[in-house]
Amino acid sequence: MEVKATSSSIDDIDEDRYASASNTGTYPTQKKFINNLKSIEFDSVPHDVSCVICNENFASRNDSGSLDAIKLPCKHLFDRSCIAPWLELNNTCPVCRFELPSDHPDWIKRQKIKEQQLHRQQMDDLMYG
Ligand SMILES: [Zn+2]
Ligand SMILES: [Zn+2]
Repeated sequence: MEVKATSSSIDDIDEDRYASASNTGTYPTQKKFINNLKSIEFDSVPHDVSCVICNENFASRNDSGSLDAIKLPCKHLFDRSCIAPWLELNNTCPVCRFELPSDHPDWIKRQKIKEQQLHRQQMDDLMYG
C-alpha cells in the first residue's frame, strides 16, 4: 500500500482574530481635556459637598486656602489632585461614568462609529419620523 505524503494541505489560514482584543471600555482621558479643566470658583461650590475620592469637604479646604477643585461636564466636583490621576487612566467620571474625550485610537474609532449610527438614526427620524 502506497501512502502519499500530502504535505500540501496547509489550508488552515491563520486569521488574525486576536488583533481586536476586547477591552473594558475605558481609555486615558485626552491630555488637552484634562489641562483645560478650569478650577472652579469657591462661591459656586455647595458647602455641604465633599470630594468623592478623598471624602473631604470642599469648604474645609477653602478655609485653609488649598482648594483647587474642578467640575466635570457632568457637574460632579473633585479636587484636581484627586481626579487627575484617575483621568490619566480612565475617560469616565468615577461617580456617574459620564464619558470624556480620549486620545486613544480605539476610542476615536468607537466614537466615529457611534456618530455614524447617530447620524443614520437622525436621517431615519427625518425620513420616517
Ligand atoms: Zn479629593
Ligand atoms: Zn459625573
